[in-house]
Amino acid sequence: MRAARYYGRNDIRIDDLPEPEVGPGQVGIEVAWCGICGTDLHEYLEGPIFCPTPETPHPISGETAPVTLGHEFSGTVYAVGEGVDDLEVGRHVVVEPYIIHDDVDTGPESTDYHLSPDMGFIGLSGRGGGLGEKIAVQRRWVHPIADSVPLDQAALIEPLSVGYHAVQRSGAKAGDVALVGGAGPIGLLTSAVLKALGVTVVVSELSPLRRQKALEAGVADHALDPRETDVVAAVRELTGGRGADVAFECTSVQVVLDTLMEALRPTGVLVVVSIWGHRSEFDMFTLVMKEIDVRGTIAYVNSHPATIELVESGKIDLAPFITGRIGLEGLVEEGFDTLIHRNETAVKILVSPSGRGL
Ligand SMILES: [Zn+2]
Repeated sequence: MRAARYYGRNDIRIDDLPEPEVGPGQVGIEVAWCGICGTDLHEYLEGPIFCPTPETPHPISGETAPVTLGHEFSGTVYAVGEGVDDLEVGRHVVVEPYIIHDDVDTGPESTDYHLSPDMGFIGLSGRGGGLGEKIAVQRRWVHPIADSVPLDQAALIEPLSVGYHAVQRSGAKAGDVALVGGAGPIGLLTSAVLKALGVTVVVSELSPLRRQKALEAGVADHALDPRETDVVAAVRELTGGRGADVAFECTSVQVVLDTLMEALRPTGVLVVVSIWGHRSEFDMFTLVMKEIDVRGTIAYVNSHPATIELVESGKIDLAPFITGRIGLEGLVEEGFDTLIHRNETAVKILVSPSGRGL
């Protein structure tokens, strides 16, 4: 089978690999669609970050580079390993792509397995990836989805779970007003979860295309251009002078962080969703004087069942966020190139590893 493998910075190759063996407790999945994520681009341009090097194996997977990429994927079960009796061949599934030590409690009550030592991701840290035609995954991380959800849209359930967890961290509830800084894929999907909960969503975004996407997809009530509109004043006007109840930082840009802090109401909550590769200059004075709560959020934890329910029930439509479909051979020249150089023209580009979806 064919798979896109990461060898190191600026070095991704399409390789011919043996099909994975479906061991006891595992599920064999034929990948339908896999999204390209900002994390994949960071590995390509600046990595290895989550990916192992050729010399240093990942502490849990034990694998070194090259590793198969792709962690946002959907597919169909083609085989089940010994002991798996609750998933049948033909079932549509998505994967929660964690690599976690065996002694960590990953049960349904756990709220912190994603923060356990050495945590890694399938599709970055080993154990195959969604940019290969087939993959074998431990049953724990495989989530069945209804046939009514198209498999292309299902590939966006993984990044939608990131938005779901971010919204959970914020404590936002129906009737609140949220300000989302940045309408890239994660900002848009976070907005989708907020809207589904009955929150009024204001998005601040430079790209006209992304603002338009936020409004067309119905995930934002207002999409502001911060070069033209005073975002803080606009949020005050919308909230009777009070300020936003919650804010989501999805850019890792200083001026966005400053705007969100200013636009929040006293005792508001700021959730930092983007992964900051540099230190920020944080406005501690505003934090103190408004008693603002600042919370981090990373990935998801037991978020997939509720996220899948939002999609299956039709409360969230993921179709508008798919802006491109390519085969494996177009991964770097077409997919990565668009997202690196013409990022504002795309939201989510999906890859069909077998080419059958195209
Ligand atoms: Zn991702």
